[in-house]
Amino acid sequence: MESTASLDTLLAEVRSFLDEEIVPLEKRLMADGLSAVKADLDLVRTAVKDAGWWCPQLGAEHGGMGLSLEDFGRLSKVLGRSPLGHLAFNCQAPDAGNMEILADHATDSQRETYLEPLVAGDVRSCFAMTEPEHAGSNPKHMSATAEPDGDAYVLNGHKWFTTGADGAAFTIVMAETTPDADNPYRRASMLLVPMDADGVEHVRTIPIMGERGEGWLSHSELRFHDVRVPAANRLGPEGHGFSIAQERLGPGRIHHCMRWLGICERAFEMMCERAATRELSPGTPLGSKQSVQNWIADSRARIDAAEMLVRDAARTIDRDGQRAAKVDISKIKYYVADLLHDVLDWAIQTHGALGVTDDTLLSFWYRHERGASIYDGPSEVHREVVAKRILRDYGADL
Ligand SMILES: Cc1cc2nc3c(=O)[nH]c(=O)nc-3n(C[C@H](O)[C@H](O)[C@H](O)COP(=O)(O)OP(=O)(O)OC[C@H]3O[C@@H](n4cnc5c(N)ncnc54)[C@H](O)[C@@H]3O)c2cc1C
Repeated sequence: MESTASLDTLLAEVRSFLDEEIVPLEKRLMADGLSAVKADLDLVRTAVKDAGWWCPQLGAEHGGMGLSLEDFGRLSKVLGRSPLGHLAFNCQAPDAGNMEILADHATDSQRETYLEPLVAGDVRSCFAMTEPEHAGSNPKHMSATAEPDGDAYVLNGHKWFTTGADGAAFTIVMAETTPDADNPYRRASMLLVPMDADGVEHVRTIPIMGERGEGWLSHSELRFHDVRVPAANRLGPEGHGFSIAQERLGPGRIHHCMRWLGICERAFEMMCERAATRELSPGTPLGSKQSVQNWIADSRARIDAAEMLVRDAARTIDRDGQRAAKVDISKIKYYVADLLHDVLDWAIQTHGALGVTDDTLLSFWYRHERGASIYDGPSEVHREVVAKRILRDYGADL
C-alpha cells in the first residue's frame, strides 16, 4: 500500500462490502451449513475478484494485492468479522499458507499444477502434519514415512485434524524421508499428494463440538497406504519440510490473530448492543451492572492492546524477517487466543440463554474457535518460549 490513507479507504470499502454482501449469508450458514451458501459465496468471490481484492495475502507477482504483512493483517481483521470473510477473498487457512509456501518453493511444474488453480480459487487444498498417535505439539515425533523407491516415494501414515481435507484437490503431507538424519529437523519432507491418488483414504470428517464439518469448515482423519508419490512432487529439498513449515508459521499467526481480533470486535459490538438495550426492569439495562461493565471495559482495553502487539510483531517481520520476531509471535499467539475466548464467553454470558442458542454467531464461534489455543502451537508451548527467553536474560540455563 502506498499510503495510510489509501489503506484506510480500502478497509472502509471492504467493510461496506462485507456488511452488504457477506453478512446477509450468515444466517443460512448457521442454519444449514456451508453447502447451503455455496452458490451465493461463489458470486461474492467473483465480485471480490472483479474489485481487485482477490488473494490479498499474496504478492502482486502471484496475483495478489502485494500488501505488507501488517497491512494484510488489518484487512484480515475486517474480514474476520464474518466466518465467510476470508473464504470470500480466498485468503482462508489452510489454503493461504499453502499458497505462500508454494509461491516460495514450487518448481515450474508444481506451480502450474497446484499453485495456479489454488490461487484462481478453482481448487482447495489441505496440510497434513498432525498425527493421532505421534506428531502433535512436538511435530518432530513423526511416524509417517515416505521411503524413496526409484523415482518416487512410498508414503505411509495416519494423519488427523487436516483442515479442509473434505473436498480438497490435494494435500501437502509431512513425512519422514530421511529418518536417520542426525538433526531431527532434517528428517521430514513436504510432499504434494492429490487426494484422489491410489492409497489415500479419507477416513472421516471429525465431529467437533456438535459440528460434523464440511468443506473448508472441516477437519479430517486421513490414512496413506503405500501411496506412490513421484519425487517431482516433493516441495523443496529433501529433509527441508520443517524449515519450510517454519516459514509459514510467523505470517500464519499474524493472519490468525488479526482474524480473531475481527471476531472479538463483532462479539464486543453484540455484547454492548445487548447490554445497552436489554432491560432487567423498566429503565434498568443490563449494562447498569458492574460485572457487565467490567466485561465491556476489559474487552475494549485488551482488544486495543492486542492489536498493537500483533501489528508490532507484523512490522518486525516486514522489516527484519520472522526470526527477529520469534518471541513476539509466541506472545501474540497465546495473548490473542485467551482474549478471543474471554470476549466470546463474556458476550455469551451477557446474552443469557440467547447466547448459547444458534440464533447468533456467538455459539458458532465458540465451537469453531475453541481450537485457537491449540492449533499452530498450544498456548503452553508459546508461553514457554516467552518465559525461557526472559529467564535467560536473568542467567537461567534454559
Ligand atoms: C481446529 C484445529 C485445526 C487444526 N488444523 C490442522 C491442520 O490443518 N493440519 C495439521 O497438521 N494439524 C492441524 N491441527 C492440529 C494441531 O496442530 C495440533 O492439535 C497441535 O499441534 C497440538 O497437538 P495435539 O493435538 O496432538 O496435542 P498434544 O501434543 O497431545 O498436546 C496436548 C496438550 O498438552 C499440552 N502441552 C503440549 N506441549 C506442551 C509443553 N511443551 N509444555 C506444556 N504443555 C504442553 C498443551 O496443553 C496441549 O494442548 C488442528 C487442530 C485444531 C484444534
